[in-house]
Amino acid sequence: MLVDSHCHLDKLDLSAHGGDLEAALQAAYDRHIRHILCIGINLENIDQVVALAERHAPVFASVGVHPLYRESREPTQEDLLSIARHPKVVAIGETGLDYFYGEGDLQWQRDRFHIHIEAARQCRLPLIIHTRGAKEDTLRDLREIGQGEVNGVLHCFTEDLDMAKQALDLGFMISISGIVTFRNATELRDVVKALPLDRLLVETDAPWLAPVPHRGKQNEPQYVVEVAEKVAQIKGLSLDEVARVTTENFFTVFAKARLNADQVGVQG
Ligand SMILES: [Zn+2]
Ligand SMILES: [Zn+2]
Repeated sequence: MLVDSHCHLDKLDLSAHGGDLEAALQAAYDRHIRHILCIGINLENIDQVVALAERHAPVFASVGVHPLYRESREPTQEDLLSIARHPKVVAIGETGLDYFYGEGDLQWQRDRFHIHIEAARQCRLPLIIHTRGAKEDTLRDLREIGQGEVNGVLHCFTEDLDMAKQALDLGFMISISGIVTFRNATELRDVVKALPLDRLLVETDAPWLAPVPHRGKQNEPQYVVEVAEKVAQIKGLSLDEVARVTTENFFTVFAKARLNADQVGVQG
């Protein structure tokens, strides 16, 4: 059993599946993917993301406003908390800081990030962090505003080993995307090699960042298998072992998802 710990099902172009999301989910199921976390990136379409999770048993949702999504209405803590009460909403995010693609004065990004950290502290749900070129500020904000009371995942990790280790010390897990299969991702592969498997997750970030050999095409949850295979190869483990441990890790950090999966009796 595998979990795609981060994707955007609402952004998939479903033409390859006859316009049917159920067919894309079945393709993932056929490759042993049993759970999928569909990530919220703005308040304008959060109802759609939550509805997807309601309609499809294997799908969970998160609520947040992406650090590069400038057009969104700014979320208040109460916005996030009220949506987070939904039984299938298992995390706050994605949120974070992106100084690589962000432009100009980015104080608004930090203000937005702080609201998410405060909300996660309040409702005790994990944070899904997007971080690019903002190592010091991301870690400091998690430390100072989180006050040791937040954890979660650094998703689609592409930063250095030192940042990964500091995040582990803060209680976070590191999620690996299809980037790990890219030819020039040597540093990321070294990070994967150095980190303990029991702190790693795998994700697609679909529809973006399809792993080799699908690179350049649309990404889909089913391709999390290729990500897990690469992690297994780097660590000299079997795919089964990586699948088992990363699934366990997923339910450790997203504990509300475990509760929910137990209730609906979704089996591996
Ligand atoms: Zn992201
Ligand atoms: Zn994302």
